[in-house]
Amino acid sequence: MSDKDASVASTTSAAMTVEAMPERLRITEIFHSIQGEADAIGWRTVFIRLTGCPLRCVWCDTEYSFYGGNWRAIDDILAEVASHGVKYVCVTGGEPLAQKRCLILLQRLCDAGYDVSLETSGALDVSPVDPRVRKVMDLKAPDSGEAKRNLWSNLDHLLPHDQIKIVIASRADYEWARNAVAEHALEQRCMVLFSPVHGAVQPRELAEWIIEDKLPVRFQLQLHKLLWNDAAGH
Ligand code: SF4
Repeated sequence: MSDKDASVASTTSAAMTVEAMPERLRITEIFHSIQGEADAIGWRTVFIRLTGCPLRCVWCDTEYSFYGGNWRAIDDILAEVASHGVKYVCVTGGEPLAQKRCLILLQRLCDAGYDVSLETSGALDVSPVDPRVRKVMDLKAPDSGEAKRNLWSNLDHLLPHDQIKIVIASRADYEWARNAVAEHALEQRCMVLFSPVHGAVQPRELAEWIIEDKLPVRFQLQLHKLLWNDAAGH
């Protein structure tokens, strides 16, 4: 083979490799459990936890997803999801949208007929997310240490089936959240969830504040924390 032939062969082979390369994502874990929060609470659900997050919330309970993980082909992820025989799939993290190919995964899951939700920090643009996906989007209150990361323009990309979640660690966080609801008419966009930080605010205290102020929000406790004390894999 001449040098020229070898070069053409090598270019062709490189092109084929790129073409044949499967779409991959870095995955921390895939597990079958019970949905512990938001509107699908209580349903058997497969969780796909993507690795990595650009935020560092003080009370983060999934720090193990910041690093590591394994590269998995999207076809392979879909095959594992199918093996569990569920209707509900939740794509979470970390911050799943930090990996661009998450958008492809979401679309493929919807195409396969699953009821798909996405848990996202609210710091990254949600506008390209498939509209069939139910977004559960955080607004970060001050005690998270990441309130400056709230991308407020995301509010304009929420659909009625989406949810806004505010995790509350103190009375000051509660007042911030109450003001955010009023200022941005959040409850007119979609369901608003208030959730206490485990061990920081007494759940009953938060419930009573909501009742006292007659807020148009839904109180929630995380079922998986009650059932499994937040162990990984649940
Ligand atoms: S956005 Fe979520 S995963 Fe990232 S640091 Fe905050 S709580 Fe943890």
